[in-house]
Amino acid sequence: MLFLDELPEFPRSVLEVLRQPLEDRVISISRARYATEYPASFMLVASMNPCPCGYYGHPKKQCVCTDYQRINYMSRISGPLLDRIDLQVEVQPVNFDQMSSKQPGEPSAAIRERVIKARAIQSLRFKNHPGVHCNAQMTSSLLHQYAEPDSAGLEKLRDAMERMNMSARAYDRILKVARTIADLEGSVTVRQYHIMEAIGNHNLYHDNYYRISYSSCQLFLGFGISFLWVILLAIRLITQPMPNNISA
Ligand SMILES: [Zn+2]
Repeated sequence: MLFLDELPEFPRSVLEVLRQPLEDRVISISRARYATEYPASFMLVASMNPCPCGYYGHPKKQCVCTDYQRINYMSRISGPLLDRIDLQVEVQPVNFDQMSSKQPGEPSAAIRERVIKARAIQSLRFKNHPGVHCNAQMTSSLLHQYAEPDSAGLEKLRDAMERMNMSARAYDRILKVARTIADLEGSVTVRQYHIMEAIGNHNLYHDNYYRISYSSCQLFLGFGISFLWVILLAIRLITQPMPNNISA
């Protein structure tokens, strides 16, 4: 497992070389006279703030960053690298009531049992496919064979792909995650809500990044539209006589 804390603080040139091992699980080194490959199968876990000050989207504290700072910070993580991260989860701060709650969460032992069962399902599924042991390793043809969602799920996926302008890689990743969510539940079929959960866990780039990137544009457009409304209202007030029945 490779854990990278404060992901955007790493130089972009360093982060970009992760793309090949994340995709192919090997590192290829080519020199003038020879080329060789080293195995590099690992799980990448990374954390980052939503902006340099860390409070963008915070329910109580005010972010002090400018749009430019936020765009600059997020753009250190390229779209193709984010696309290769299967689960992108936005974590909200935990408030005092949640921290002091006497209500225990689900015990780790129960979660472990569920994970072991899901892994067993996957081992059985891929027993005739050498080199493939879990959903993450599925090729496109295996995805077609084992992770095809039901018609409602397919419709939801098509809608999300078009609306969020997702890449073919994101499509594959969402199907793999949805297949795993279905396995954790013991469901043979990948259903619509499995797809929706997988999409919800793969939206950092499409949601946050574009929301930030276009916020200045939206502000400008919003201002433009408001300005137009003010002009229209002014024209209306000037050209339309005041009704006589307005009471003071
Ligand atoms: Zn900030």
